[in-house]
Amino acid sequence: MFLRIHPFCRRQALRHFFILLASLLLTACVSVPQRESASAPQAGWTPSPNFDARRANYVILHHTSNDNVTDALNTLTSPLKGVSIHYLVSRDGTILQLVDETRRAWHAGASWWGGQTDMNSASIGIELDNTGDEAYPDIQITALTALLADIAARHNIPRANFLAHADVAPARKSDPSALFPWERLAAAGFGIWCETPAPAPENFDPRLGLTALGYDPRQPEAALAAFRLHFVRAENATNRHEINAVEAALIHCLLKAKAENSVAPVDDIRALP
Ligand SMILES: [Zn+2]
Repeated sequence: MFLRIHPFCRRQALRHFFILLASLLLTACVSVPQRESASAPQAGWTPSPNFDARRANYVILHHTSNDNVTDALNTLTSPLKGVSIHYLVSRDGTILQLVDETRRAWHAGASWWGGQTDMNSASIGIELDNTGDEAYPDIQITALTALLADIAARHNIPRANFLAHADVAPARKSDPSALFPWERLAAAGFGIWCETPAPAPENFDPRLGLTALGYDPRQPEAALAAFRLHFVRAENATNRHEINAVEAALIHCLLKAKAENSVAPVDDIRALP
């Protein structure tokens, strides 16, 4: 049956057609953020174009405890193991990437640093192919520092935020081992270090100082051991409960270094004035 359309309706239909066409063309030209699945269902969606991907603000270093890269890769890619890492640096300096930097690799586990308890969400993890009982070859550390320079520049990670797994999980972990060259890393601009610290003030509380550095105050003895593993390395230091004057001076000096190096030189955080 022939349907006769009133001229007014025809004009309305044409108008709607052109509006639809214009909106389709606009959609093709301008990238409008789409609502992602991880959204609160009770919230009304009013998209803003002013955003970018979340970024890591820490780097956490590990050693694999394996004899070779193949064994480490088997662990780090097995669905049954439930652990992963962003980068694996082999003994010969070859670098493998296993997880995209914008994704949350499962390397830190239950953790604490300065009150943050989900370091997986805040960090990029790097495994070093090392048993834990051997020195780190020069070629491996050279490759690591080149990787760190690239990551630090792209993510704007402050110098103070390059940490050991043992620093953020002191009761469970002791990697990387005492053979890891933190001093060399700090000289390259990654991590803080104090060479010859001046004595701490008399009223300085080194236990509070460890907490202010970031160590977990709920695990004071483990935190002290992790601090010594990273910064002291003296023989038998791990069995001593009291913090001596040399260590107190070191903690005090590191606190000052942390205060001066907790913000990256180029701050590109975008926000309204
Ligand atoms: Zn680890």
